[in-house]
Amino acid sequence: MSARSDVLIVGASAAGLATAESLRRRGFTGTVRLVGEEPHPPYDRPPLSKQVLLGTWDAGRTVLRPPADLACQGIEVLPGRRAVAVDTGRREVTLADGTRLGYGDLVLATGLTPRRLPAFEGVAGVHTLRTLDDVRRLRAALAAARRLAVIGAGVLGCEIAATGRALGLEVTVIDPAPVPMADRLGAGTGLRLAALHREHGVRLLTGTKAEAPVTAGGRVTAVVTSQGPVPADAVVIAVGSLPATDWLRGSGLPLDDGIVCDARCRAADHVYAAGDVARWWHPGQGRTVRLENRSNAAEQALAVADNILGADRAYTPVPYFWTDQHGVRVQIFGDPAAGDHLRVTEGDPDSGPFTAVAEAGGRPVGVIGWNSPRGARRARHLLTDA
Ligand SMILES: Cc1cc2nc3c(=O)[nH]c(=O)nc-3n(C[C@H](O)[C@H](O)[C@H](O)COP(=O)(O)OP(=O)(O)OC[C@H]3O[C@@H](n4cnc5c(N)ncnc54)[C@H](O)[C@@H]3O)c2cc1C
Repeated sequence: MSARSDVLIVGASAAGLATAESLRRRGFTGTVRLVGEEPHPPYDRPPLSKQVLLGTWDAGRTVLRPPADLACQGIEVLPGRRAVAVDTGRREVTLADGTRLGYGDLVLATGLTPRRLPAFEGVAGVHTLRTLDDVRRLRAALAAARRLAVIGAGVLGCEIAATGRALGLEVTVIDPAPVPMADRLGAGTGLRLAALHREHGVRLLTGTKAEAPVTAGGRVTAVVTSQGPVPADAVVIAVGSLPATDWLRGSGLPLDDGIVCDARCRAADHVYAAGDVARWWHPGQGRTVRLENRSNAAEQALAVADNILGADRAYTPVPYFWTDQHGVRVQIFGDPAAGDHLRVTEGDPDSGPFTAVAEAGGRPVGVIGWNSPRGARRARHLLTDA
């Protein structure tokens, strides 16, 4: 193995892989290497809380690109190798085993790590969900469980709750906020989502703080909450995630809830960031933005590849994500916030599919599709024309 890559990518998942493949598609013939701490080939995360946890997909179906395809493209992957330091002066990354890898350009695509709750650390039966290994453990735990408590009513917590119900478990979701996912969907759609969960038998404890586990023989048996105890033989903590930047402390790279980049996704000379870990200057919004969604990982990677190849392209996406819960696909374009006014443009939120536009100060800031992919796509232009 030569110790230098023309492009070295740390983080062998959605954003890292998309950067590597995009470079090749654009005709880049230099050496491209992907370093990833996980032992698996690059795989997709959205199915983990849905099809894989439910058991309708085998974990192998999440593989984004088999190793042979990557080899054919001349993309070298180093799985099971953790990067521990960057020296931007020497243009070198150090791995945990002491190997030093030089680079011409470096792409940082290390994603997120789940936020933890210290009171629950090390307790058997308590899980987080980010990786393929996590979902294997959680699936086994749910197969043996009857009562599941989910701490956190964000996108991930709500998806896990829905999957838990589909598996036949008694599910309680605990969150201090009054409305689930209101920060991502707006309050109006959040309330509709809360109703959907209740219709499917999820016990939704909003306005409620999870405080500590109750254990017997080291295993969780309940969660102490501000509303009293919630019995549980499996607990999932889904209280958000933090950018995986610990290893970059001391590198001199600007870090502030992510790797801070300019509008070209550049953090320093010859250093770029892409995906969940990247916070970049969005010229359209006039502020830095960090997005945690699958389509951003892919799109930002394309912008990074273009800029490595000299395009000088500002990255100005319309944010987009989707979530699947209890058979409903909710799609969100833009940035709806809790206080926005919701204007329904198609359908009826009380009875079925609908499309709505979130407005702030009379301007459209978000589009929401509730089992309404065509309606949402039709309304999306309101955000770019605004
Ligand atoms: C369970 C789940 C469900 C989701 N569902 C949806 C959905 O329905 N819709 C949607 O839009 N988005 C969804 N997402 C979000 C989406 O999966 C992410 O936005 C996307 O995976 C981000 O890709 P990424 O490459 O930036 O980061 P990641 O996928 O997190 O990949 C980062 C990789 O870097 C590796 N790494 C970290 N540090 C180091 C290091 N120091 N050295 C080497 N490697 C390192 C990590 O191990 C990881 O493999 C979901 C995420 C999860 C976890």
